[in-house]
Amino acid sequence: MPKNTGTIVHESLDALFGDSTFLSELLNDEREKALRSIRSILSTPNHVYKSFLRLPLENGEIVRIPAFRVQHNNILGAYKGGIRFHETVNEDEVINLATLMTLKNALHDVPFGGAKGGVVINPRDFENKELNLICKKYVRYFSGIIGPDKDIPAPDMGTSEREMDWMMAEYKSIHPGENYLGSFTGKSTINGGSLGRKTATGKGVYYSLRYMLYDFLNENKDWLKSQNNRYANKLISWQAKPLKIAIQGFGNVGSIIASEASCCPYLENKIVAISDRNVTLYHSDGLDITKLKNYTKRNFGDLPMNEKELEKANITAKIMPRDDLLTLDVDVLFLAALEDQINNKNMNQIKAKIIVEGANSPITGDADLFLNKKEKIIIPDILANAGGVIVSYFEWMQGRDTKFYTEKEVNNQLFEKMKKTFEVVYPQYIRDNYSLRENCYIQAVMKLSVVLYKQGKLY
Ligand code: GLU
Repeated sequence: MPKNTGTIVHESLDALFGDSTFLSELLNDEREKALRSIRSILSTPNHVYKSFLRLPLENGEIVRIPAFRVQHNNILGAYKGGIRFHETVNEDEVINLATLMTLKNALHDVPFGGAKGGVVINPRDFENKELNLICKKYVRYFSGIIGPDKDIPAPDMGTSEREMDWMMAEYKSIHPGENYLGSFTGKSTINGGSLGRKTATGKGVYYSLRYMLYDFLNENKDWLKSQNNRYANKLISWQAKPLKIAIQGFGNVGSIIASEASCCPYLENKIVAISDRNVTLYHSDGLDITKLKNYTKRNFGDLPMNEKELEKANITAKIMPRDDLLTLDVDVLFLAALEDQINNKNMNQIKAKIIVEGANSPITGDADLFLNKKEKIIIPDILANAGGVIVSYFEWMQGRDTKFYTEKEVNNQLFEKMKKTFEVVYPQYIRDNYSLRENCYIQAVMKLSVVLYKQGKLY
């Protein structure tokens, strides 16, 4: 299990209790009471909606499909978060993911609250027509609670711009004459989506590593040396080192991370391994990302799985079992697939020194503790993978103004926004005794707490 988000809120508030600059106007009993109130507000969602979608299958049979929308908190703005189509979706998971969205938006100063949706299906088991109907039904069943100023869904695991286009179209026909462009983000550009939205998560994930090992390191070399603690020394030891990289996942996030890493002018990268739902491909001299991307485009997103397919892709690589990628001897491991990938079973075999979370919660709570003790640097999900929701925010603004930015403008604004967060949390990580994840949570909970207090929600 990923670390329970309720526990995260507890721990962050415990850390903040002793910080005299945090809500300094509250003292003694008042302070304790306020912190208890914040704890109970942030560790529970505002609403949990569950419906069973009635779906006539192509063969005429009727099935009922469980579907969720969890609205965790909207103190910072309208609820915001993706809709996941996956067979393991369940209520607790959606609550946890909605809470992470609240924290992610707070951390990066995105003026939205946190929400998440889920439908319990394996999309590969359904015809396109059935998927279209599932999307329409989802919007119909939850039409009263979603909308451009209420709750704005987006893609997540198992959904993409196609599903967002379908959902927006349904929203538009349910609410004729109303503004609909801001009802869903992650749409195709022809339907009012933003340039750069599709690549935003992957670009942001890679940028979180590049910023740490290049920009931050070079701009703060003297300061880092003066800190002379284990975190600072560890970071300095990475200066200008060539990096061996492994990437779990070669979908929308993993493949973009691979492209960014392979053409990065700032770091010397070698992508030695990539995996997808079937295999790991390995080459000690580095894999040819362009050829692999071309191959997956022509083959339903799958990497070559055997010698014949490798030949077809014109690639030389060693084919290994899928999960072997996680335990390879590399410098950086990007996790851009599913949850709970590093867990009790494999945590003591992890050799990567830096782990970057492209997916949400890919490391379990226990494994996170263990890896931190081993002094691994972990760049956590809410910091690294916020590119998607940041560009969703840009898309929502562009929909409001019906004025659209160029891809370059979107990318520059994305990096600018993430950089602002990095400038706060990376120095804090070096200075304090907290892990980078704890630091990010504390930062997010601090912002939410102050806003809750200032909006009078603690009375
Ligand atoms: N599903 C993505 C996430 O987990 C994007 C959410 C959004 O764009 O609203 O961050």
